[in-house]
Amino acid sequence: MRFAIFSDIHANLEALEAVLADARENKCTDFVCLGDVVGYNANPHECVQRIREMDCPIVKGNHDEQASLVESSRGFNEMAEAAIQWTRDNLTDTDKEWLRALKLQRQVRDFTIVHATLDTPEQWGYVFNNLDAAASFTYQHTSVCFFGHTHVPTAFVRDDGVQSQRIDKLRIDSSKKYFINTGSVGQPRDADWRAAYCIYHIDDAVVEQRRVKYDLVTAQKKIIDAGLPRLLAERLAIGR
Ligand code: ZN
Repeated sequence: MRFAIFSDIHANLEALEAVLADARENKCTDFVCLGDVVGYNANPHECVQRIREMDCPIVKGNHDEQASLVESSRGFNEMAEAAIQWTRDNLTDTDKEWLRALKLQRQVRDFTIVHATLDTPEQWGYVFNNLDAAASFTYQHTSVCFFGHTHVPTAFVRDDGVQSQRIDKLRIDSSKKYFINTGSVGQPRDADWRAAYCIYHIDDAVVEQRRVKYDLVTAQKKIIDAGLPRLLAERLAIGR
Protein backbone atom coordinates (compact mmCIF):
# COMPACT_ATOMS: atom_id res chain seq x y z
CA MET A 1 0.00 0.00 0.00
CA ARG A 2 1.16 3.48 -0.79
CA PHE A 3 -0.60 6.47 0.80
CA ALA A 4 -0.62 10.01 -0.56
CA ILE A 5 -1.07 12.19 2.54
CA PHE A 6 -1.86 15.83 1.95
CA SER A 7 -2.97 18.87 3.95
CA ASP A 8 -3.97 22.54 3.74
CA ILE A 9 -5.29 22.62 0.19
CA HIS A 10 -6.94 25.96 0.95
CA ALA A 11 -9.11 26.05 -2.17
CA ASN A 12 -6.13 25.98 -4.54
CA LEU A 13 -7.50 23.66 -7.26
CA GLU A 14 -4.43 23.94 -9.51
CA ALA A 15 -2.14 22.78 -6.69
CA LEU A 16 -4.55 20.00 -5.67
CA GLU A 17 -4.79 18.60 -9.21
CA ALA A 18 -0.99 18.69 -9.59
CA VAL A 19 -0.52 16.79 -6.32
CA LEU A 20 -3.12 14.16 -7.23
CA ALA A 21 -1.49 13.67 -10.65
CA ASP A 22 1.95 13.30 -9.03
CA ALA A 23 0.52 10.78 -6.53
CA ARG A 24 -0.99 8.72 -9.35
CA GLU A 25 2.31 8.80 -11.28
CA ASN A 26 4.01 7.54 -8.14
CA LYS A 27 1.51 4.65 -7.86
CA CYS A 28 -0.25 5.76 -4.69
CA THR A 29 -3.12 3.40 -3.90
CA ASP A 30 -4.75 5.38 -1.09
CA PHE A 31 -5.34 9.03 -0.24
CA VAL A 32 -5.63 10.81 3.12
CA CYS A 33 -6.50 14.48 3.73
CA LEU A 34 -5.43 16.35 6.88
CA GLY A 35 -7.92 19.22 6.60
CA ASP A 36 -8.21 22.88 5.60
CA VAL A 37 -9.72 22.05 2.24
CA VAL A 38 -11.00 25.66 2.00
CA GLY A 39 -9.96 29.24 2.88
CA TYR A 40 -7.54 31.74 1.24
CA ASN A 41 -7.71 30.69 -2.44
CA ALA A 42 -10.44 30.86 -5.06
CA ASN A 43 -11.89 27.36 -5.58
CA PRO A 44 -13.42 26.20 -2.28
CA HIS A 45 -16.47 24.48 -3.82
CA GLU A 46 -14.41 22.70 -6.50
CA CYS A 47 -11.87 21.47 -3.93
CA VAL A 48 -14.63 20.19 -1.61
CA GLN A 49 -16.24 18.40 -4.58
CA ARG A 50 -12.93 16.87 -5.68
CA ILE A 51 -12.10 15.54 -2.22
CA ARG A 52 -15.65 14.32 -1.53
CA GLU A 53 -15.52 12.30 -4.76
CA MET A 54 -12.30 10.65 -3.59
CA ASP A 55 -14.13 9.40 -0.49
CA CYS A 56 -10.86 9.21 1.46
CA PRO A 57 -10.18 9.52 5.21
CA ILE A 58 -10.11 13.20 6.22
CA VAL A 59 -10.04 15.34 9.37
CA LYS A 60 -11.37 18.86 9.95
CA GLY A 61 -9.18 21.98 9.83
CA ASN A 62 -9.82 25.36 11.47
CA HIS A 63 -10.74 26.97 8.12
CA ASP A 64 -13.15 24.10 7.41
CA GLU A 65 -14.75 24.78 10.80
CA GLN A 66 -14.98 28.56 10.31
CA ALA A 67 -16.29 28.32 6.74
CA SER A 68 -19.10 26.01 7.87
CA LEU A 69 -20.29 28.41 10.63
CA VAL A 70 -22.76 31.23 9.99
CA GLU A 71 -20.31 33.76 11.41
CA SER A 72 -16.78 33.53 12.78
CA SER A 73 -16.36 32.39 16.36
CA ARG A 74 -12.74 33.18 16.99
CA GLY A 75 -10.11 35.72 16.04
CA PHE A 76 -8.84 35.13 12.56
CA ASN A 77 -6.49 37.83 11.27
CA GLU A 78 -8.00 40.38 8.90
CA MET A 79 -6.87 38.68 5.70
CA ALA A 80 -7.98 35.20 6.77
CA GLU A 81 -11.32 36.65 7.91
CA ALA A 82 -11.93 38.40 4.56
CA ALA A 83 -11.17 35.13 2.80
CA ILE A 84 -13.41 33.10 5.10
CA GLN A 85 -16.39 35.43 4.50
CA TRP A 86 -15.88 35.09 0.74
CA THR A 87 -15.51 31.32 1.14
CA ARG A 88 -18.84 31.04 3.02
CA ASP A 89 -20.55 32.86 0.16
CA ASN A 90 -18.98 30.51 -2.38
CA LEU A 91 -19.82 27.16 -0.78
CA THR A 92 -23.15 25.38 -1.12
CA ASP A 93 -25.15 24.33 1.95
CA THR A 94 -24.22 20.74 1.15
CA ASP A 95 -20.51 21.65 1.09
CA LYS A 96 -20.87 23.32 4.51
CA GLU A 97 -22.75 20.38 6.00
CA TRP A 98 -20.02 18.03 4.79
CA LEU A 99 -17.28 20.26 6.28
CA ARG A 100 -19.18 20.60 9.57
CA ALA A 101 -19.48 16.82 9.96
CA LEU A 102 -15.73 16.12 9.63
CA LYS A 103 -14.02 14.61 12.68
CA LEU A 104 -11.05 16.21 14.45
CA GLN A 105 -8.93 13.09 14.67
CA ARG A 106 -8.93 9.62 13.12
CA GLN A 107 -6.93 6.47 12.87
CA VAL A 108 -6.16 5.08 9.40
CA ARG A 109 -4.58 1.61 9.30
CA ASP A 110 -1.74 1.86 11.87
CA PHE A 111 -1.35 5.66 11.88
CA THR A 112 -3.22 8.66 13.28
CA ILE A 113 -4.29 11.86 11.48
CA VAL A 114 -5.12 15.27 12.98
CA HIS A 115 -5.03 18.85 11.65
CA ALA A 116 -3.35 20.73 14.51
CA THR A 117 -2.38 18.84 17.72
CA LEU A 118 -3.34 15.64 19.51
CA ASP A 119 -3.38 17.19 23.02
CA THR A 120 -6.15 19.73 22.29
CA PRO A 121 -7.18 19.30 18.63
CA GLU A 122 -10.21 21.61 18.95
CA GLN A 123 -8.04 24.55 20.09
CA TRP A 124 -6.01 24.66 16.86
CA GLY A 125 -2.63 25.22 18.52
CA TYR A 126 0.49 25.29 16.33
CA VAL A 127 3.33 22.76 16.55
CA PHE A 128 6.42 24.67 15.45
CA ASN A 129 9.02 23.35 17.91
CA ASN A 130 10.06 20.29 19.90
CA LEU A 131 8.28 21.48 23.04
CA ASP A 132 4.96 21.87 21.20
CA ALA A 133 5.47 18.41 19.69
CA ALA A 134 6.22 16.87 23.11
CA ALA A 135 2.73 17.84 24.36
CA SER A 136 1.12 16.17 21.36
CA PHE A 137 3.26 13.01 21.66
CA THR A 138 1.75 12.39 25.13
CA TYR A 139 -1.56 11.67 23.37
CA GLN A 140 -0.14 9.75 20.41
CA HIS A 141 -0.82 6.01 20.62
CA THR A 142 0.45 5.01 17.18
CA SER A 143 4.06 5.10 16.02
CA VAL A 144 3.20 7.58 13.25
CA CYS A 145 0.84 10.56 13.22
CA PHE A 146 0.46 13.01 10.34
CA PHE A 147 -0.63 16.62 10.88
CA GLY A 148 -0.83 19.98 9.08
CA HIS A 149 -1.85 23.52 10.10
CA THR A 150 1.60 25.22 10.15
CA HIS A 151 2.16 24.76 6.37
CA VAL A 152 5.80 23.90 7.18
CA PRO A 153 6.91 20.33 6.41
CA THR A 154 8.87 18.82 9.34
CA ALA A 155 9.24 15.47 11.10
CA PHE A 156 9.29 15.49 14.92
CA VAL A 157 10.81 12.28 16.25
CA ARG A 158 10.49 11.08 19.86
CA ASP A 159 13.10 8.67 21.13
CA ASP A 160 14.68 9.58 24.48
CA GLY A 161 13.82 13.21 23.80
CA VAL A 162 12.14 15.03 20.92
CA GLN A 163 14.08 16.15 17.86
CA SER A 164 13.02 17.61 14.54
CA GLN A 165 14.40 16.94 11.10
CA ARG A 166 13.67 17.30 7.41
CA ILE A 167 11.49 14.53 6.00
CA ASP A 168 13.26 13.82 2.67
CA LYS A 169 13.05 9.99 2.77
CA LEU A 170 12.42 9.15 6.40
CA ARG A 171 12.72 5.54 7.54
CA ILE A 172 10.21 4.68 10.27
CA ASP A 173 11.63 2.77 13.24
CA SER A 174 8.67 1.30 15.11
CA SER A 175 10.41 1.73 18.49
CA LYS A 176 10.17 5.54 18.04
CA LYS A 177 7.26 7.95 17.54
CA TYR A 178 6.87 10.30 14.60
CA PHE A 179 4.69 13.44 14.36
CA ILE A 180 5.00 14.43 10.72
CA ASN A 181 3.82 17.63 9.07
CA THR A 182 3.34 16.99 5.36
CA GLY A 183 3.47 20.71 4.47
CA SER A 184 0.74 22.51 2.53
CA VAL A 185 -0.68 21.77 -0.91
CA GLY A 186 -2.25 25.16 -1.55
CA GLN A 187 -0.25 27.73 0.44
CA PRO A 188 3.27 26.54 1.41
CA ARG A 189 5.05 28.73 4.00
CA ASP A 190 8.60 27.35 3.97
CA ALA A 191 9.90 29.68 1.23
CA ASP A 192 9.30 27.06 -1.48
CA TRP A 193 6.26 27.85 -3.65
CA ARG A 194 5.76 24.26 -4.87
CA ALA A 195 2.88 22.21 -3.47
CA ALA A 196 3.98 19.86 -0.65
CA TYR A 197 2.67 16.44 0.36
CA CYS A 198 4.02 13.09 1.56
CA ILE A 199 3.95 9.55 0.26
CA TYR A 200 3.86 6.90 3.02
CA HIS A 201 5.30 3.65 1.60
CA ILE A 202 3.71 1.55 4.30
CA ASP A 203 5.30 -1.81 3.37
CA ASP A 204 8.82 -0.30 3.24
CA ALA A 205 8.16 1.89 6.33
CA VAL A 206 9.35 5.03 4.53
CA VAL A 207 7.79 8.50 4.45
CA GLU A 208 8.83 10.51 1.40
CA GLN A 209 8.48 14.27 0.97
CA ARG A 210 7.25 15.38 -2.45
CA ARG A 211 7.25 18.91 -3.96
CA VAL A 212 5.21 19.54 -7.07
CA LYS A 213 5.12 22.49 -9.47
CA TYR A 214 1.65 23.67 -10.45
CA ASP A 215 -0.02 26.37 -12.54
CA LEU A 216 0.71 29.22 -10.12
CA VAL A 217 -0.26 31.98 -12.58
CA THR A 218 -3.80 30.64 -13.02
CA ALA A 219 -4.27 30.21 -9.26
CA GLN A 220 -3.11 33.82 -8.69
CA LYS A 221 -5.34 35.20 -11.44
CA LYS A 222 -8.39 33.48 -9.95
CA ILE A 223 -7.69 35.05 -6.54
CA ILE A 224 -7.47 38.54 -8.03
CA ASP A 225 -10.50 38.05 -10.28
CA ALA A 226 -12.52 36.86 -7.28
CA GLY A 227 -11.77 40.09 -5.41
CA LEU A 228 -9.92 38.28 -2.64
CA PRO A 229 -7.01 40.18 -0.95
CA ARG A 230 -4.18 40.63 -3.47
CA LEU A 231 -1.60 39.58 -0.90
CA LEU A 232 -3.09 36.08 -1.00
CA ALA A 233 -2.00 35.83 -4.66
CA GLU A 234 1.41 37.41 -4.02
CA ARG A 235 2.34 35.15 -1.09
CA LEU A 236 1.83 32.00 -3.21
CA ALA A 237 4.80 32.93 -5.40
CA ILE A 238 7.20 33.27 -2.45
CA GLY A 239 5.93 30.41 -0.33
CA ARG A 240 4.97 32.57 2.69
ZN1 ZN B 1 -4.10 25.85 6.88
